Amino acid sequence: MKYDVIIAGAGPAGATAALECARSGLSAVIIEKEQLPRYKPCAGGVTAAAANMLWCPIPEKIVQAKCRSFKAFYGEKSIHVDTEENFMFVVSRDKFDYWLVKAAVHSGAVLRQGEEATSFDIGPDGVTVRTGTDVYTGKLLIGADGVNSKIAKIIRGPFRRNDLAICLCTECDDTEHNYNREQIEIHYGPLPMTYSWVFPKKDYLSVGMGGWCAEAEGMKAVFNNFLEKKGLKKQDVRSYTVPLGGIGRITVADRVLLAGDAAGFADPLTGEGIRYAIASGRLAAKTAASVILEGLDINLHNLLIYKKSCIDEFGDDLKAAMSVARLFQKLPDFLFGMYFSSQEPFEKSLEILQGRIGYQDYYHWFLPQVPGMLLKKTSAVLKD
Ligand SMILES: Cc1cc2nc3c(=O)[nH]c(=O)nc-3n(C[C@H](O)[C@H](O)[C@H](O)COP(=O)(O)OP(=O)(O)OC[C@H]3O[C@@H](n4cnc5c(N)ncnc54)[C@H](O)[C@@H]3O)c2cc1C
Repeated sequence: MKYDVIIAGAGPAGATAALECARSGLSAVIIEKEQLPRYKPCAGGVTAAAANMLWCPIPEKIVQAKCRSFKAFYGEKSIHVDTEENFMFVVSRDKFDYWLVKAAVHSGAVLRQGEEATSFDIGPDGVTVRTGTDVYTGKLLIGADGVNSKIAKIIRGPFRRNDLAICLCTECDDTEHNYNREQIEIHYGPLPMTYSWVFPKKDYLSVGMGGWCAEAEGMKAVFNNFLEKKGLKKQDVRSYTVPLGGIGRITVADRVLLAGDAAGFADPLTGEGIRYAIASGRLAAKTAASVILEGLDINLHNLLIYKKSCIDEFGDDLKAAMSVARLFQKLPDFLFGMYFSSQEPFEKSLEILQGRIGYQDYYHWFLPQVPGMLLKKTSAVLKD
């Protein structure tokens, strides 16, 4: 079977890439190893910034909660911020991802599900992808096969331990708590570079804990303790990895583009990956269309425009987020102390989730605030 573009993986990156390829007039096939809709370990927080990138609002029947209330905790400190507009829509990934894939199919992309792409021949005349049952040939391959991407391993090698965050997640019964359906909770610490979340779904809570792999020793015990303290009864706890955001890695090779987690595009501070999966899937499709429809050679040189467009659209922001993350890694108590001395830093960071500002804007806003926050923190300490 011959296509312009072969896409491995039907998560948000692959589905968006397929949709945009089909809309540009390219023939595209998505190969997905699972039968859809498939379970995906994820808190399901689609930020307003991510939702705004979609071609239409997320249908009501897929949205489990709309959030405009944020509670943050760090040790004994807490902050509560309400926003006028939603900053997050909580979804179940099985339904959300399937909705995206169906839109791609509706636009003309072909879906082959229940087939794992197992081998990839990338040659000067095209790409050949084999699954257990079929052989597909194409002009270009988009690797949207997630954090354990086989395609990324071919062009770049696997992620290193330091490139990954580990997440534990579970679903908790909410009948006794009657949790606010418009509110998310984030509990920073107690391990370095970790936080726990409580996100509302329609009939239950998504609860989890994530942190940089290198700092995550003992996370399971800390998470169990967190659940116990909150009186939450867990179901199975699953663990999964998320790549920590970076734009410096290899994401392009002759006839190959990587998108989403396969490329390593997740926010190093929050673990948000859906937004960057959608953004990079779209840019990968745009690159495919420009190179294929203009009849250019589908080589590294002509495909590098993809890397540049990712840097321009969100790469510099991920870089700024990484700088902030590194600061928190080095000075956690000092920075959290400053953060929790007023609501403003949180109000401002919710604007990032709403897509009103980026991390670079945040950084430029934050630095001049430091003396004032320090003063507030010092006077609070003196009062105690
Ligand atoms: C516990 C947890 C909580 C998270 N919470 C959030 C959150 O609240 N908000 C947020 O924005 N991000 C969150 N993330 C990150 C987010 O889930 C990912 O960044 C996002 O799913 C990346 O999308 P993707 O399309 O690149 O990959 P995926 O969604 O992982 O999709 C990859 C697809 O490829 C398929 N596949 C893999 N290998 C092959 C193969 N060889 N052949 C065919 N198909 C293959 C897989 O079955 C899968 O369907 C969370 C992650 C974890 C682990």
